[in-house]
Amino acid sequence: MRVLVINDKRVSKLNLAEAAWLAAAIDADGWIYANTTVEIGKRWPVLNVAVCNTNRQFVDWAAKLMMGYVAITRKDKGHLGWKTLYRAEIKGHTHVLNILKQIEPYLIIKKENANKIVTFIEGRAWGRRSPESCQRISRIVRDSWQNPEIRRRRMEGIHRWRKPHGPCKKCGRTNGAFDTRTLCHNCYRKLRRARRSAS
Ligand SMILES: [Zn+2]
Repeated sequence: MRVLVINDKRVSKLNLAEAAWLAAAIDADGWIYANTTVEIGKRWPVLNVAVCNTNRQFVDWAAKLMMGYVAITRKDKGHLGWKTLYRAEIKGHTHVLNILKQIEPYLIIKKENANKIVTFIEGRAWGRRSPESCQRISRIVRDSWQNPEIRRRRMEGIHRWRKPHGPCKKCGRTNGAFDTRTLCHNCYRKLRRARRSAS
């Protein structure tokens, strides 16, 4: 297994044996999951690939190959033969696409599902919000424009978050970012850090 960087994210490049092992583990004891109630493509779904088992070593190995993390699905109840159930998991379209493309040839049960997700991720527009969230934002902007107070403030260029301020009490600067009425961003940060280390 090697580490590659795709979209500024560290992902794994598997050799043939590793890809085949991971495919079998996911086919038998895992899932390829798209969390969306609406049609795929309309909303960017949360995608998730996981391997689940009561054997920690098995799950650790899957996590290492996927460069994912291990979480506990079910805690040991101490009776009735229940064991702690671990899962190795990855989320995020870059990570999911990278793994699915490598294991797809070796999948049997979940091959079709994997193909569907690969096609979707490769076809989506990167660096853009989903069509649904674009619509939601434009609706919020349009509705807020109906509010006369918000409209007036926006027309006059008033920004609530820009507080009126005099020169900085510590360094005397008048321009740049101010966090309070009397302190610039840098001086306020220093003060906060000093307070935090004192306590
Ligand atoms: Zn200052």
